[in-house]
Amino acid sequence: MIRVLPPELINQIAAGEVIERPSSVVKELVENSLDAGATRIEVDIEQGGARLIRVRDDGVGIAPDELPLAVASHATSKIGSFDDLEHVASMGFRGEALASVSSVARFALTSRQHDADAAFRVEVDGGRLQAARPAQHPPGTSVEVRDLFYNVPARRKFMRAERTEFAHIDDLMKSLALARSGVEFRLSHNGKPVRVWKAARDEQAMLVRVADVLGENFPAQSLHLDHAAAGMRLSGWVGLPTASRGQADSQFFYVNGRLVRDRVVAHAVRQAYADVLFHGRHPAFVLYLELDPAGVDVNVHPAKHEVRFREQRLVHDFLFRSLHEALAQTRAGQVVDASD
Ligand code: ADP
Ligand code: MG
Repeated sequence: MIRVLPPELINQIAAGEVIERPSSVVKELVENSLDAGATRIEVDIEQGGARLIRVRDDGVGIAPDELPLAVASHATSKIGSFDDLEHVASMGFRGEALASVSSVARFALTSRQHDADAAFRVEVDGGRLQAARPAQHPPGTSVEVRDLFYNVPARRKFMRAERTEFAHIDDLMKSLALARSGVEFRLSHNGKPVRVWKAARDEQAMLVRVADVLGENFPAQSLHLDHAAAGMRLSGWVGLPTASRGQADSQFFYVNGRLVRDRVVAHAVRQAYADVLFHGRHPAFVLYLELDPAGVDVNVHPAKHEVRFREQRLVHDFLFRSLHEALAQTRAGQVVDASD
Protein backbone atom coordinates (compact mmCIF):
# COMPACT_ATOMS: atom_id res chain seq x y z
CA MET A 1 0.00 0.00 0.00
CA ILE A 2 1.35 3.37 -0.96
CA ARG A 3 0.64 6.18 1.46
CA VAL A 4 1.61 9.78 2.00
CA LEU A 5 3.81 10.13 5.08
CA PRO A 6 2.72 12.37 7.95
CA PRO A 7 4.65 15.69 8.12
CA GLU A 8 6.31 14.75 11.40
CA LEU A 9 7.86 11.64 9.87
CA ILE A 10 8.92 13.59 6.78
CA ASN A 11 10.82 16.01 9.02
CA GLN A 12 12.50 13.19 10.91
CA ILE A 13 13.62 11.61 7.66
CA ALA A 14 14.92 14.96 6.43
CA ALA A 15 16.74 15.40 9.76
CA GLY A 16 18.60 12.18 9.03
CA GLU A 17 20.34 13.87 6.11
CA VAL A 18 21.44 17.04 7.84
CA ILE A 19 21.60 16.26 11.56
CA GLU A 20 24.21 13.60 11.88
CA ARG A 21 25.44 14.52 15.37
CA PRO A 22 25.38 17.42 17.86
CA SER A 23 27.93 19.44 15.88
CA SER A 24 25.58 19.42 12.86
CA VAL A 25 22.95 21.14 15.01
CA VAL A 26 25.49 23.74 16.14
CA LYS A 27 26.46 24.35 12.51
CA GLU A 28 22.88 25.00 11.42
CA LEU A 29 22.11 27.26 14.38
CA VAL A 30 25.28 29.34 14.17
CA GLU A 31 24.83 29.73 10.41
CA ASN A 32 21.33 31.06 11.10
CA SER A 33 22.81 33.57 13.56
CA LEU A 34 25.33 34.68 10.96
CA ASP A 35 22.59 35.05 8.35
CA ALA A 36 20.70 37.20 10.91
CA GLY A 37 23.66 39.60 10.98
CA ALA A 38 24.77 38.74 14.51
CA THR A 39 27.93 40.40 15.81
CA ARG A 40 28.09 38.19 18.89
CA ILE A 41 27.26 34.48 19.09
CA GLU A 42 27.32 32.41 22.24
CA VAL A 43 27.21 28.62 22.18
CA ASP A 44 26.57 26.70 25.39
CA ILE A 45 26.92 22.94 25.37
CA GLU A 46 26.13 20.37 28.00
CA GLN A 47 27.26 16.75 27.85
CA GLY A 48 28.78 17.02 24.41
CA GLY A 49 25.49 18.43 23.09
CA ALA A 50 23.46 15.34 23.97
CA ARG A 51 21.79 17.16 26.85
CA LEU A 52 21.82 20.78 25.68
CA ILE A 53 22.84 22.90 22.72
CA ARG A 54 22.02 26.58 23.12
CA VAL A 55 22.93 29.26 20.59
CA ARG A 56 22.28 32.91 21.45
CA ASP A 57 22.79 35.81 19.09
CA ASP A 58 22.25 39.55 18.81
CA GLY A 59 20.97 39.35 15.24
CA VAL A 60 17.84 40.92 13.74
CA GLY A 61 15.42 38.58 15.50
CA ILE A 62 12.15 37.08 14.31
CA ALA A 63 8.71 38.70 14.37
CA PRO A 64 6.36 37.00 16.90
CA ASP A 65 3.88 35.94 14.22
CA GLU A 66 6.70 34.37 12.21
CA LEU A 67 8.04 32.16 15.00
CA PRO A 68 5.82 29.20 14.01
CA LEU A 69 6.91 29.64 10.39
CA ALA A 70 10.58 29.53 11.35
CA VAL A 71 10.16 25.95 12.54
CA ALA A 72 7.93 24.89 9.64
CA SER A 73 9.63 22.88 6.91
CA HIS A 74 10.35 24.48 3.55
CA ALA A 75 9.92 27.87 5.24
CA THR A 76 12.70 30.39 4.75
CA SER A 77 13.12 34.16 4.57
CA LYS A 78 16.24 33.80 2.43
CA ILE A 79 15.04 32.87 -1.04
CA GLY A 80 11.76 33.27 -2.83
CA SER A 81 12.44 32.03 -6.33
CA PHE A 82 14.65 29.79 -8.39
CA ASP A 83 16.48 32.88 -9.54
CA ASP A 84 17.30 33.75 -5.92
CA LEU A 85 18.74 30.27 -5.51
CA GLU A 86 21.18 30.98 -8.32
CA HIS A 87 22.53 34.01 -6.47
CA VAL A 88 22.20 32.89 -2.88
CA ALA A 89 24.64 34.70 -0.59
CA SER A 90 23.28 33.49 2.77
CA MET A 91 24.49 30.34 4.52
CA GLY A 92 20.97 28.89 4.63
CA PHE A 93 18.24 28.73 2.01
CA ARG A 94 16.54 25.34 2.35
CA GLY A 95 14.23 26.26 5.22
CA GLU A 96 14.79 22.81 6.67
CA ALA A 97 17.14 23.14 9.63
CA LEU A 98 14.82 24.26 12.40
CA ALA A 99 12.06 21.91 11.22
CA SER A 100 14.51 19.01 11.22
CA VAL A 101 16.15 19.80 14.55
CA SER A 102 12.82 20.40 16.30
CA SER A 103 11.56 17.02 15.10
CA VAL A 104 14.38 15.11 16.83
CA ALA A 105 14.81 17.03 20.11
CA ARG A 106 13.01 19.16 22.69
CA PHE A 107 13.21 22.51 21.08
CA ALA A 108 12.66 26.15 22.05
CA LEU A 109 13.05 29.32 20.00
CA THR A 110 13.00 32.72 21.71
CA SER A 111 13.41 35.95 19.82
CA ARG A 112 13.07 39.68 20.05
CA GLN A 113 13.39 42.07 17.16
CA HIS A 114 15.56 45.11 17.69
CA ASP A 115 12.73 47.65 17.62
CA ALA A 116 10.36 45.49 19.70
CA ASP A 117 9.93 45.85 23.44
CA ALA A 118 8.95 42.24 24.05
CA ALA A 119 10.35 38.81 23.25
CA PHE A 120 8.32 35.72 22.33
CA ARG A 121 9.03 32.04 22.64
CA VAL A 122 7.77 28.91 20.92
CA GLU A 123 8.47 25.35 21.99
CA VAL A 124 8.31 22.16 20.00
CA ASP A 125 8.19 18.84 21.77
CA GLY A 126 7.70 15.57 19.95
CA GLY A 127 6.85 17.52 16.81
CA ARG A 128 4.04 19.44 18.52
CA LEU A 129 4.33 23.20 18.31
CA GLN A 130 3.07 25.14 21.33
CA ALA A 131 1.55 28.60 20.87
CA ALA A 132 3.95 31.55 21.15
CA ARG A 133 4.07 33.24 24.52
CA PRO A 134 5.88 36.30 25.91
CA ALA A 135 9.37 35.76 27.30
CA GLN A 136 12.41 37.62 28.58
CA HIS A 137 15.17 38.07 26.03
CA PRO A 138 17.48 40.86 24.84
CA PRO A 139 17.27 41.82 21.15
CA GLY A 140 18.29 38.79 19.14
CA THR A 141 17.51 35.10 19.12
CA SER A 142 18.13 32.02 21.27
CA VAL A 143 17.61 28.44 20.22
CA GLU A 144 17.68 25.66 22.79
CA VAL A 145 17.94 22.04 21.75
CA ARG A 146 17.62 19.55 24.58
CA ASP A 147 17.89 15.76 24.59
CA LEU A 148 18.93 15.44 20.96
CA PHE A 149 17.57 12.27 19.29
CA TYR A 150 15.53 11.42 22.41
CA ASN A 151 12.84 10.12 20.06
CA VAL A 152 15.22 8.52 17.53
CA PRO A 153 16.88 5.67 19.46
CA ALA A 154 18.90 4.47 16.46
CA ARG A 155 20.55 7.88 16.14
CA ARG A 156 21.03 8.32 19.86
CA LYS A 157 23.00 5.06 19.91
CA PHE A 158 25.40 6.47 17.33
CA MET A 159 26.39 9.40 19.47
CA ARG A 160 29.95 9.04 20.72
CA ALA A 161 31.49 9.86 24.07
CA GLU A 162 30.83 13.34 25.40
CA ARG A 163 34.45 14.32 24.79
CA THR A 164 34.35 13.17 21.17
CA GLU A 165 31.12 14.99 20.38
CA PHE A 166 32.40 18.15 22.04
CA ALA A 167 35.65 17.91 20.05
CA HIS A 168 33.57 17.92 16.85
CA ILE A 169 31.75 21.02 18.08
CA ASP A 170 35.03 22.72 19.00
CA ASP A 171 36.46 21.96 15.53
CA LEU A 172 33.33 23.33 13.92
CA MET A 173 33.52 26.51 16.01
CA LYS A 174 37.16 26.96 14.95
CA SER A 175 36.19 26.75 11.30
CA LEU A 176 33.34 29.24 11.84
CA ALA A 177 35.58 31.59 13.81
CA LEU A 178 38.06 31.62 10.92
CA ALA A 179 35.24 32.25 8.45
CA ARG A 180 33.90 35.33 10.25
CA SER A 181 36.66 37.27 11.91
CA GLY A 182 34.42 40.28 12.60
CA VAL A 183 32.04 38.27 14.78
CA GLU A 184 32.61 37.54 18.46
CA PHE A 185 32.21 33.86 19.35
CA ARG A 186 31.98 32.24 22.76
CA LEU A 187 31.83 28.53 23.42
CA SER A 188 31.27 26.85 26.76
CA HIS A 189 31.00 23.22 27.84
CA ASN A 190 29.22 22.13 31.01
CA GLY A 191 29.27 25.70 32.28
CA LYS A 192 33.00 26.27 31.66
CA PRO A 193 34.18 28.78 29.04
CA VAL A 194 36.26 26.97 26.42
CA ARG A 195 36.72 29.60 23.70
CA VAL A 196 36.39 33.33 23.59
CA TRP A 197 37.13 34.96 20.26
CA LYS A 198 36.62 38.71 20.35
CA ALA A 199 35.76 40.38 17.08
CA ALA A 200 38.97 40.84 15.09
CA ARG A 201 39.02 44.27 13.48
CA ASP A 202 42.35 44.09 11.64
CA GLU A 203 44.78 41.59 10.18
CA GLN A 204 46.85 41.46 13.35
CA ALA A 205 43.84 40.56 15.49
CA MET A 206 42.81 38.02 12.88
CA LEU A 207 46.24 36.40 13.12
CA VAL A 208 45.61 35.77 16.81
CA ARG A 209 42.57 33.71 15.84
CA VAL A 210 44.53 31.94 13.13
CA ALA A 211 47.27 31.09 15.63
CA ASP A 212 44.66 29.82 18.06
CA VAL A 213 43.37 27.37 15.49
CA LEU A 214 46.48 26.38 13.51
CA GLY A 215 49.06 26.67 16.25
CA GLU A 216 51.15 29.55 17.50
CA ASN A 217 53.97 28.79 15.06
CA PHE A 218 51.77 28.98 12.00
CA PRO A 219 51.82 32.78 11.48
CA ALA A 220 55.62 32.77 11.28
CA GLN A 221 55.56 29.75 8.98
CA SER A 222 53.09 31.14 6.50
CA LEU A 223 52.74 33.80 3.85
CA HIS A 224 49.93 36.26 3.64
CA LEU A 225 48.31 36.30 0.26
CA ASP A 226 45.80 38.56 -1.41
CA HIS A 227 45.37 38.14 -5.10
CA ALA A 228 42.55 39.15 -7.42
CA ALA A 229 41.97 38.28 -11.07
CA ALA A 230 39.20 37.25 -13.44
CA GLY A 231 36.50 38.49 -11.04
CA MET A 232 37.81 36.30 -8.21
CA ARG A 233 39.79 37.07 -5.10
CA LEU A 234 41.94 34.68 -3.09
CA SER A 235 43.23 35.83 0.27
CA GLY A 236 44.46 34.29 3.50
CA TRP A 237 47.55 32.48 4.71
CA VAL A 238 49.47 29.74 2.94
CA GLY A 239 51.64 27.61 5.13
CA LEU A 240 55.27 27.22 4.12
CA PRO A 241 56.68 23.70 3.84
CA THR A 242 57.88 24.09 7.45
CA ALA A 243 54.24 24.36 8.51
CA SER A 244 53.25 21.15 6.73
CA ARG A 245 51.80 18.23 8.67
CA GLY A 246 51.60 14.51 8.49
CA GLN A 247 47.84 14.80 8.18
CA ALA A 248 45.51 16.99 6.17
CA ASP A 249 43.92 18.40 9.32
CA SER A 250 44.93 22.04 9.06
CA GLN A 251 43.32 23.02 5.82
CA PHE A 252 40.61 25.64 5.77
CA PHE A 253 39.24 26.66 2.43
CA TYR A 254 36.25 28.99 2.29
CA VAL A 255 34.19 29.82 -0.74
CA ASN A 256 32.19 33.00 -0.15
CA GLY A 257 32.48 32.41 3.60
CA ARG A 258 31.48 28.77 3.48
CA LEU A 259 33.94 26.03 4.46
CA VAL A 260 34.01 23.53 1.63
CA ARG A 261 35.71 20.35 0.56
CA ASP A 262 36.11 20.35 -3.15
CA ARG A 263 38.01 18.25 -5.67
CA VAL A 264 38.85 21.17 -7.94
CA VAL A 265 40.27 23.13 -5.01
CA ALA A 266 42.15 20.15 -3.60
CA HIS A 267 43.75 19.44 -6.96
CA ALA A 268 44.84 23.03 -7.53
CA VAL A 269 46.37 23.18 -4.05
CA ARG A 270 48.17 19.87 -4.46
CA GLN A 271 49.66 20.96 -7.77
CA ALA A 272 50.78 24.31 -6.40
CA TYR A 273 52.61 22.63 -3.54
CA ALA A 274 53.84 19.67 -5.60
CA ASP A 275 57.46 20.77 -5.96
CA VAL A 276 57.93 22.23 -2.50
CA LEU A 277 56.51 19.47 -0.35
CA PHE A 278 57.70 15.95 0.16
CA HIS A 279 55.34 13.15 -0.65
CA GLY A 280 53.07 12.36 2.28
CA ARG A 281 53.28 15.84 3.74
CA HIS A 282 50.13 17.98 3.83
CA PRO A 283 50.12 21.75 3.62
CA ALA A 284 48.41 23.94 6.23
CA PHE A 285 46.43 26.92 5.02
CA VAL A 286 43.53 29.28 5.63
CA LEU A 287 42.23 30.54 2.32
CA TYR A 288 39.25 32.59 1.32
CA LEU A 289 37.99 32.49 -2.23
CA GLU A 290 35.43 35.09 -3.15
CA LEU A 291 33.57 35.08 -6.40
CA ASP A 292 30.19 36.02 -7.82
CA PRO A 293 27.61 33.77 -6.07
CA ALA A 294 26.18 33.03 -9.53
CA GLY A 295 29.49 31.31 -10.35
CA VAL A 296 29.09 28.65 -7.70
CA ASP A 297 26.25 26.23 -6.97
CA VAL A 298 25.86 25.62 -3.23
CA ASN A 299 22.78 23.45 -3.63
CA VAL A 300 24.73 20.23 -4.13
CA HIS A 301 24.64 18.66 -0.71
CA PRO A 302 22.10 19.04 2.15
CA ALA A 303 24.77 19.98 4.68
CA LYS A 304 26.34 22.25 2.01
CA HIS A 305 29.90 20.98 2.48
CA GLU A 306 30.24 20.70 -1.26
CA VAL A 307 29.90 23.22 -4.01
CA ARG A 308 30.04 23.10 -7.77
CA PHE A 309 31.88 25.78 -9.70
CA ARG A 310 30.28 26.72 -12.97
CA GLU A 311 33.69 27.40 -14.52
CA GLN A 312 35.85 24.77 -12.91
CA ARG A 313 38.83 25.29 -15.21
CA LEU A 314 38.91 29.02 -14.57
CA VAL A 315 38.73 28.57 -10.80
CA HIS A 316 41.35 25.84 -10.84
CA ASP A 317 43.82 27.90 -12.84
CA PHE A 318 43.27 31.00 -10.74
CA LEU A 319 43.90 29.06 -7.53
CA PHE A 320 46.91 27.24 -8.89
CA ARG A 321 48.50 30.40 -10.25
CA SER A 322 47.89 32.44 -7.08
CA LEU A 323 49.32 29.77 -4.79
CA HIS A 324 52.18 28.84 -7.10
CA GLU A 325 53.26 32.46 -7.25
CA ALA A 326 53.01 32.88 -3.48
CA LEU A 327 55.13 29.79 -2.95
CA ALA A 328 57.70 30.84 -5.54
CA GLN A 329 60.05 32.32 -2.97
CA THR A 330 60.11 28.97 -1.22
CA ARG A 331 60.88 27.22 -4.45
CA ALA A 332 63.78 29.59 -5.07
CA GLY A 333 65.40 27.91 -2.08
CA GLN A 334 65.03 24.19 -1.89
CA VAL A 335 62.51 21.60 -0.84
CA VAL A 336 62.24 21.96 2.90
CA ASP A 337 61.77 18.93 5.02
CA ALA A 338 59.56 19.45 8.00
CA SER A 339 58.87 16.99 10.70
CA ASP A 340 56.34 17.77 13.37
P1 ADP B 1 17.05 28.55 6.40
O1 ADP B 1 18.22 28.99 7.20
O2 ADP B 1 17.44 27.61 5.29
O3 ADP B 1 16.19 29.69 5.93
P2 ADP B 1 16.10 27.42 8.89
O4 ADP B 1 15.15 26.32 9.20
O5 ADP B 1 17.50 27.29 9.37
O6 ADP B 1 16.09 27.64 7.33
O7 ADP B 1 15.48 28.78 9.46
C1 ADP B 1 14.18 29.17 9.04
C2 ADP B 1 14.00 30.67 9.12
O8 ADP B 1 13.96 31.07 10.49
C3 ADP B 1 15.12 31.47 8.51
O9 ADP B 1 14.93 31.66 7.11
C4 ADP B 1 15.04 32.78 9.27
O10 ADP B 1 14.08 33.63 8.71
C5 ADP B 1 14.55 32.34 10.65
N1 ADP B 1 15.67 32.22 11.62
C6 ADP B 1 16.23 31.07 12.06
N2 ADP B 1 17.21 31.31 12.97
C7 ADP B 1 17.27 32.65 13.11
C8 ADP B 1 18.07 33.55 13.91
N3 ADP B 1 19.04 33.09 14.74
N4 ADP B 1 17.82 34.89 13.81
C9 ADP B 1 16.85 35.36 12.98
N5 ADP B 1 16.07 34.57 12.20
C10 ADP B 1 16.27 33.24 12.26
MG1 MG C 1 19.35 27.78 8.41
